[in-house]
Amino acid sequence: MAKVYYDQDVNWDAISGKKVAIIGYGSQGHAHALNLKESGIDITVGLYAGSKSAQKAKDAGLKVAEVADAVKDADITMILIPDEIQAKIYKTEIAPNLKAGSALAFAHGFNIHFQQIQPPEDIDVFMVAPKGPGHLVRRTFAEGGGVPDIFAVYQDASGKAWDIALAYARGIGGTRSGVIKTTFQEETETDLFGEQAVLCGGITHLITAGFETLVKAGYQPEIAYFECFHEMKLIVDLMYEGGMAKMRHSISDTAEYGDYTAGPRLVTDKTKKEMENILTDIQDGSFATKWLTENKAGRAQFYAMRRRHAEHQIEEVGGKLRKMMSWLDKKEN
Ligand code: NDP
Ligand code: MG
Ligand code: MG
Repeated sequence: MAKVYYDQDVNWDAISGKKVAIIGYGSQGHAHALNLKESGIDITVGLYAGSKSAQKAKDAGLKVAEVADAVKDADITMILIPDEIQAKIYKTEIAPNLKAGSALAFAHGFNIHFQQIQPPEDIDVFMVAPKGPGHLVRRTFAEGGGVPDIFAVYQDASGKAWDIALAYARGIGGTRSGVIKTTFQEETETDLFGEQAVLCGGITHLITAGFETLVKAGYQPEIAYFECFHEMKLIVDLMYEGGMAKMRHSISDTAEYGDYTAGPRLVTDKTKKEMENILTDIQDGSFATKWLTENKAGRAQFYAMRRRHAEHQIEEVGGKLRKMMSWLDKKEN
């Protein structure tokens, strides 16, 4: 079994007293910056002139500078801007200002693994990748917990990169929950596969197909929404807490029997073969090339798909029903 690192395994001296630049203040950026600050680390948030996020960071009591200035001073530069613009900002604003002997850090291996960013040899390059959305990295930390991280070192110029990376993971709360070693390759490939085949692509299309099947058969869309969409979180919460067994214990025996008999009719050998094809596209770089090309071409296809999915009936019905659920957090993050 993989070694899991906890708070007591951390050499805090590896990060204590260091200056950390957090580039970007979005989903991950705000969480890393605030968690590290509350862990006693000197943080500067690096943004561009006119950035919408700058005011939010200032309001939260953080120092804000332009990217180049934040990097110049930093012992650790953590890049938390969208993956598809990292290479450009790295070339123009980060690389020329990186302090010799400092560390460059990532929360996802994409740009290093697919060689969009090629750092100089005299700096440490590490990754601390939270296995959860940024807003939960912040929320769980504020509640005294943490989201698990995986961490990796691509380049260990100082001989201390592993210690620094693990200490960083502690600073954002990861070692409260458990942190595991990985490589840039493993993190990049498994992260892309997980989001495409299961967490995002898999689940949204499964829910939507179930909803469409019921509505097409003449059932009320609101009921189709409750059955195929709303209940999903309740079921997933049970699995998250106690494995599939806890969920299966909680549902009726009829539901459990249907689970075992209908599941394999949906996730067939053909589905698994397609999962392997998705993994191959990730491993051989063809997914990365496609996504980078889409970005260079102005994202026309991406925006069209976003629009089409946002206009789906399930979103309209769900939007109305969720308005009545007063306990749902309405806050825009
Ligand atoms: P976001 O899309 O949330 O980042 C947006 C932030 O980047 C905003 O503060 C934005 O400022 C800022 N920004 C945009 N352009 C620039 C620029 N040119 N210079 C400086 N700042 C800029 O990113 P995520 O948090 O989603 O992702 C960051 C990294 O974390 C990625 O590598 C991603 O793969 C990884 N990751 C993300 C997870 C997540 O939960 N989202 C989970 C695990 C890893 P403004 O708003 O003012 O334009
Ligand atoms: Mg991802
Ligand atoms: Mg039921």
